[in-house]
Amino acid sequence: MGPNHELHAELKNAVAELCRNFPDTYWRELDAQRAYPGEFVDALTKAGYLATLIPEDFGGAGLGVTEATIILEQIHRSGGNAGACHAQMYIMGTLLRHGSSEQKKQYLPQIARGDLRLQAFAVSEPTTGSDTTQLKTFAVRKGDRYVVKGQKIWISRAEHSDLMLLLARTTPIEEVKKRTEGLSILLVDLRTSVGHGLTIRPIRTMMNHATTEVFFDDLEVPAENLVGEEGQGFRYLLDGLNAERILIASECIGDGRWFLDRACRYAKERVVFNRPIGQNQGVQFPLARAYANVEAASLMVSNAAGLFDSHQPCGPQANMAKLLAADASWESANAAIQTYGGFGFAEEYDIERKFRETRLYQVAPISTNLILAYLAEHVLGLPRSY
Ligand SMILES: Cc1cc2nc3c(=O)[nH]c(=O)nc-3n(C[C@H](O)[C@H](O)[C@H](O)COP(=O)(O)OP(=O)(O)OC[C@H]3O[C@@H](n4cnc5c(N)ncnc54)[C@H](O)[C@@H]3O)c2cc1C
Repeated sequence: MGPNHELHAELKNAVAELCRNFPDTYWRELDAQRAYPGEFVDALTKAGYLATLIPEDFGGAGLGVTEATIILEQIHRSGGNAGACHAQMYIMGTLLRHGSSEQKKQYLPQIARGDLRLQAFAVSEPTTGSDTTQLKTFAVRKGDRYVVKGQKIWISRAEHSDLMLLLARTTPIEEVKKRTEGLSILLVDLRTSVGHGLTIRPIRTMMNHATTEVFFDDLEVPAENLVGEEGQGFRYLLDGLNAERILIASECIGDGRWFLDRACRYAKERVVFNRPIGQNQGVQFPLARAYANVEAASLMVSNAAGLFDSHQPCGPQANMAKLLAADASWESANAAIQTYGGFGFAEEYDIERKFRETRLYQVAPISTNLILAYLAEHVLGLPRSY
């Protein structure tokens, strides 16, 4: 085994060990209450895992997306859910790549220590959805500040974050040559903004996911909190998406493996008609097929992560990793709930909880159709459909 393989095996074991302190009952109880897994997030933070991608110069581990995928996959494979905090790993990438040196010095070391949480990114809006460049939230420059008006939806973890990145329009769409221009990224300090022009309203969803609506009512943001150049925000957003796609895909792989572990164990133990249900090919084949698809998707995740870490273009691979991994986790979820029969629907087996959780990835952070549209247009060269 090479040094990288050893490091990866150690990392996987260390994360698995941490996750053993957060068993099924921990996640099940939080799910019932729709409560935030604060203790789990603290443990991950203390262990330094959320600072994986922050360079050592800023106090992080200076590792790559490959290592981050190992961590996130293992959390999901252990039955947990990293959705409560995974964004603390990658949202800072926008600051790291496009922030000023003052912003980086001010924020990154604190983020690396876990003293500051930057794990909310406000992009989606209720009226414009996947058509991001049409978003309506507007930030007007007035002297040394921006004044923000508008509304965002599905902004996850905003209640559990100190800072939030906001994508807002700063030049009206009629005044730009390309609709991707005139959007900017602002760093919003939630600690001082809530109640002063910013309101956060939680949305209860089918799974335990701290997501919210955010309202901006003349919120003032210091002009020095602009990230990079005014008007270039959409480009900065795109820069961060490949990492996000690959990391979420690794969570899907973890979910898929968790479903198959559980379903195979159950299929061997459950005896009906005087034999284990897993002896029937009708039960075996959906599990075997899902397994093949999880393994294939996992290769695409590794491929995309390897390209990303060696600074090569990886848009198609990152998108395919997300598409294939989300499909494979959903297929595994279906095979698992079928294998469990009626018991799959009982809360105490956790299958129904993970089933609800893994369904999200068909829609967020990007829906399957939009990935297919990207592949069709940008990889296969077919005419743009929208
Ligand atoms: C739990 C949760 C957490 C989220 N967290 C965040 C977050 O932290 N920050 C953030 O900014 N956003 C977040 N989102 C939003 C998420 O990114 C969007 O829901 C997603 O991008 C889809 O957008 P939409 O919901 O507006 O769907 P719409 O754009 O309205 O699309 C609805 C359906 O129509 C399909 N569709 C739309 N246009 C086309 C087309 N041209 N061709 C084919 N099909 C099409 C879509 O694929 C989709 O299935 C979150 C969403 C959820 C549910």
